[in-house]
Amino acid sequence: MNSSRLIIALVLLYLPMAAQVPAAEIEVRGAYGGVQSFWDSGARLDDYGINAIFTGGHWLQPAQVARARAEGARVFAEFATLNGGEYVEKHPEAWPVDEKGERSPKADWFMGVCPTDPGFRAWRMNELREILRRLELDGVWMDYVHWHAQFEDPNPILPETCFCPGCLSAFQAATGARLPEGGTAEKARWILEHQENIWRDWRCSVVTGWARDIKEIIRQERPGALLGLFHAPWTDQDFGGARRKILGLDFGQLAGVVDVFSPMVYHGRMGRDPRWVGEYVAWLSESLRIKAGKFPKIWPIVQATDEPAAVSPQEFEEVLRRGASGAASGVMMFTASAVAHDPAKLETLKKVYLEWAGKK
Ligand SMILES: [Zn+2]
Repeated sequence: MNSSRLIIALVLLYLPMAAQVPAAEIEVRGAYGGVQSFWDSGARLDDYGINAIFTGGHWLQPAQVARARAEGARVFAEFATLNGGEYVEKHPEAWPVDEKGERSPKADWFMGVCPTDPGFRAWRMNELREILRRLELDGVWMDYVHWHAQFEDPNPILPETCFCPGCLSAFQAATGARLPEGGTAEKARWILEHQENIWRDWRCSVVTGWARDIKEIIRQERPGALLGLFHAPWTDQDFGGARRKILGLDFGQLAGVVDVFSPMVYHGRMGRDPRWVGEYVAWLSESLRIKAGKFPKIWPIVQATDEPAAVSPQEFEEVLRRGASGAASGVMMFTASAVAHDPAKLETLKKVYLEWAGKK
């Protein structure tokens, strides 16, 4: 066989494998929240092929971390970042201010905190250090990393914030903008009319700055641990570009800081078809130019909960597989306890994860 025929033969041999994601490339078979439900039922994580857990750092105990590790799972702590209904009640200076100069109301159940408030920032970062010192973690997954808004709904709430005195002076200091005299509403109107792009760029830089500082704290406290991001599953076009414009998430900037993107592709809650999960992963893979085995990676979180309508075991299997498609190298479900309480979904999870683990 001459060399060109050999190459053609090798390409033909490889093509059928390239058409599907080989199980070996799905490095993370994750479970988000409620892992205790698995243990309470007498199961072990490795019985179900789970090799990573993602759960709230505040509640997580060293004994649970040790048990997860003993069962072959990596442990990632969810870290609630810019939410804080209780915090703004106690510290009204950190309440986000809208373009009318008023406190922006709660967005459904969510209450964001002003990201430039120095007291809040110091408090949150201390909390992070405490979690990293207390627990032997493989990484930290930031949650609620965006300016005050509600995106986990088919009809998102997208206010213009924050025009508090701290944000206005930070914006001026960072950009050299010379704001007009007058009240907050006048200043906000002037910014949105004359400096909108600069304003939105600055807001993105504030969010990226949080991610960068969190990464630095991880580097100091637990070198080698990963930084992940749970985020709105929106493209550049969805809701008029609101992901960047209102939430302040610039994926290009964040890709230089975050190790793993975890889009919250909750198809049922967002009124989407299960196929959309795969479409979004494909868009994100392309947009971030993900390369196999390199950072940043994509490990989406898919919906298992029956809310607002039931998610059947077949639908759950579909979103798991679509979540782990494209350049994604892992997946997890919202939530592990929703699966643990549903025998049919539990069987589905076991089938898919053990298949990926190569233990059919
Ligand atoms: Zn502010």
